Amino acid sequence: MTHKIHGHIDGPIVMVGFGSIGRGTLPLIERHFTYDRTAFTVIEPSSDHAVFLAEKGIRHLPLALTRENMREVLSGLFPDRKGFVVNLSVDVGSVDMMALCQELGVLYIDTVVEPWAGHYFETSKGNAARTNYALREEARALARRSVGGPTAVSCCGANPGMVSWLLKEALLRLAADCGRAVAAPATREGWAMLMRDLGVRGLHVSERDTQITARPRPAGVFVNTWSVEGFLAETFQPAELGWGTHEKKLPALAHRFDHGPGYAIWIDRPGGETRVRSWCPTDGPQYGLLITHNEALSIADYFTVRDGETVQYRPTCHYAYHPCNDAVLSLYETSGAGVLPAAHHILTAEEVVSGEDDLGLLIYGHEKGALWYGSRLTIERARDLAPGQNATGLQVTSAVLAGMVWALENPRAGIVETDEMDHARCLEVQRHYLGRIEAHYTDWTPLKNRINSFPEERDDSDPWQFSNFLAN
Ligand code: NAD
Repeated sequence: MTHKIHGHIDGPIVMVGFGSIGRGTLPLIERHFTYDRTAFTVIEPSSDHAVFLAEKGIRHLPLALTRENMREVLSGLFPDRKGFVVNLSVDVGSVDMMALCQELGVLYIDTVVEPWAGHYFETSKGNAARTNYALREEARALARRSVGGPTAVSCCGANPGMVSWLLKEALLRLAADCGRAVAAPATREGWAMLMRDLGVRGLHVSERDTQITARPRPAGVFVNTWSVEGFLAETFQPAELGWGTHEKKLPALAHRFDHGPGYAIWIDRPGGETRVRSWCPTDGPQYGLLITHNEALSIADYFTVRDGETVQYRPTCHYAYHPCNDAVLSLYETSGAGVLPAAHHILTAEEVVSGEDDLGLLIYGHEKGALWYGSRLTIERARDLAPGQNATGLQVTSAVLAGMVWALENPRAGIVETDEMDHARCLEVQRHYLGRIEAHYTDWTPLKNRINSFPEERDDSDPWQFSNFLAN
């Protein structure tokens, strides 16, 4: 099969980190761009894939980027103010990387606002300092200073990332299904007003990963379908969510932020131990983990309607993640032990025997109840579409591909999040890799379905209050 070439990358390409997402993104770059093959470098401390890279003629720098060495290393690789940094690592500070790329005049993409090593587990500054709000506000401040600079796409994976594009497509679908003929809004304000006018109270980034292997998980090994390090970091950050204007009451242990625009709240509990009731077409009602993610914040912020300084409307937005079964068990074991696991394993496409990743938006509170809209990608389809990636990985790497195409087509956009990009163009590039994109309406609410009756905090007058979703 011949693959569509989406553009030419002028200058060196530097991929930082060659883990599960880096290894999955490389074949998509090879397929969809033309570039100078002698100017491709991978910066990766591990030598596990050194032979593979050497056989491909890709230069491997076996080092860990740090605050101290990153300027020297990257300046040497980008002498001519052109090229692309594709940051798919853990433990490399995204804000510092974006600032340096602005200076060096090169394009940049990452999938998360990553802090430098140590930050996620550093509790001495208090839990508010470990939130994604704190990280995102730093990135937004840099974005305000970088208007018109080289494009840096922040947080462009599946989520954060692709879900922001699917959300806009879903809103247009919802509008059409409600009998309202609307054109795609051209501005942020227009999108926010569309969401408000549709009566949306909030949304979950609702995910169910059913990928399994034939081999039972060995005790003591933390298994996941993507970065174990990344997953552990976010599960032990405080739970965090974009906080909607319809909410009546802060949950127990919740805090507002004392700086910035205040579109979010955080709960003084680990996200990985904070369960919410949610709904996904895989099996219907399910528990999800309220793990903090940049998109929970960026979507709430982007879809805020203001009258002058006054906030008139904002949706509640959070992640509701049901990871693969092995990851659920791994987390249970790790949290119970109270010790981070010594052994990590990321499931490869070859060892997954069945399952899929269903990742979309559960948009609730409008006249049709709730709409789930998203990508349902099976392992079989993922294997057909791209080499060596499980379904979760392909949803991420194809978003990186789409973000890179958009950056090449919009090279002076400064620092942007995926909410601010042309969702239609990005999905045009990515859709091929997403399996089935489906819309499901449901009459489910978080007040439905209890096996027994126990005392609980519930608001029967309004099913869409966050207190009704929160399960513990
Ligand atoms: P991984 O753990 O498989 O790989 C990370 C790689 O980074 C490792 O190979 C590691 O050696 C390397 N690394 C560590 N420290 C480094 C340093 N100082 N300099 C350079 N490289 C370093 O992770 P992954 O599954 O490939 O995920 C990569 C990133 O993508 C993570 O930050 C993860 O959170 C993020 N991610 C985002 C999404 C999304 O949807 N937005 C989804 C999955 C992963």
